[in-house]
Amino acid sequence: MNATATVTPITEAAHAPKPQTWFDGAFIDGDAPQAGLTTHAMHYGSGVFEGIRAYATSDGGAAVFRLPEHLERMRKGAALLGMAFDPAQATEAVLATLRTNGHRDAYIRPLAWFGEGSFGLDVEGHMPHLMVATTATQVHLNGKRARVGVSTWRRNPADSLPPLKLCGGYINSILAKREAKQRGFDEALFTDRAGNVVECTGANVFMVKGGVITAVEHPDALPGITRDTLLALSGARARTVSLAELLDADEVFACGTAAEVAPISQIEQREYGENPVSRALAAQYQRIVRGEDAAHRDWLTTV
Ligand code: PMP
Repeated sequence: MNATATVTPITEAAHAPKPQTWFDGAFIDGDAPQAGLTTHAMHYGSGVFEGIRAYATSDGGAAVFRLPEHLERMRKGAALLGMAFDPAQATEAVLATLRTNGHRDAYIRPLAWFGEGSFGLDVEGHMPHLMVATTATQVHLNGKRARVGVSTWRRNPADSLPPLKLCGGYINSILAKREAKQRGFDEALFTDRAGNVVECTGANVFMVKGGVITAVEHPDALPGITRDTLLALSGARARTVSLAELLDADEVFACGTAAEVAPISQIEQREYGENPVSRALAAQYQRIVRGEDAAHRDWLTTV
C-alpha cells in the first residue's frame, strides 16, 4: 500500500476552527452532540426558533437586521409553550456567536426547546434550552427566480396553531415543500378553502399589478418581518388576495429573511415576464440591510 495515499492532505479547511454554537451560556463545537434521546422537542416539536440575518456593512463591520423584532416573535412562541425565554440573553448570545465565529454575512438560528424528561405531553418540569448557531451566507447575485406550485395541503389554520415559528408547525411546510419538489417546482404556495392566498412554506407573498404593490394578508400566514419592512418601504397596501388575482398580476414575489425579495417566475402554468418593480424593491432592501440608507439605521443592531 502506498503510505502517502493515507496521509490526509493539509488543507486550510482541515485547520479552520470549527464554527461554535452558543448552548445554554457556553460555546461548543457546532457539530457536538448535545440533546439526549428523550428530548421532548425531538418527539413532539416543542420548541420555537428564529431565522435572522446579519449583513456586512460598508464601514467594515456587520449588523443584525431587526434583531429585537425577531426575538420578540420568538418570545411570543416561547410564552405560548410556557417556556422561559429572555430576549436580552438571546440578544447577547446572537452577538457573541457572530463575533466568536467571525461571521459578517450570516444566517442566525436561535432555537429554544424543551429537553429531556418524560414522554408525556405535559411540558411542565421539562428543562428549557437555548442555542444559537450562525452560518456564513453567500451573497447571490442574479439568483434564479422560483417556480411555484399550488399546494394541495392547507396551511395550519391559526385557530389550530398560531402563526409563530413553533418547531412542530413546520411539518406543514415540509409536506408542502416535498409535494412541490415532487411535482418539479421549487416552492409551494398555500391557499385556503376559499381560494385566497396564504403564503409560501417559509416566505410571505406580494404582487404588483399596474404598478400597484399589494401585500397578501391572511390570518394563517406568519407576520413576516421582511413583509413588514417592505410594507414600510413601499407603502404597499395589505389585503386579502385570491389566487385568481395573483395569477392575473404583472409580478409576484416572495419575501422572508432567508429569501429576501425573491421574484417568482411561474405559478403552476402561469409564467411571469419582466419584474422591474420587484427588482427595484429588492435593490432597495439590500441597501437598507447593509446600512447604506441612513433613514433606516434603527433597524440594525451593530455586531
Ligand atoms: N412565512 C413563514 C412560514 C416563514 O417561515 C417565514 C420565515 N421566517 C416567513 C413567512 C417570512 O418571515 P420573516 O420575513 O420574518 O423571515
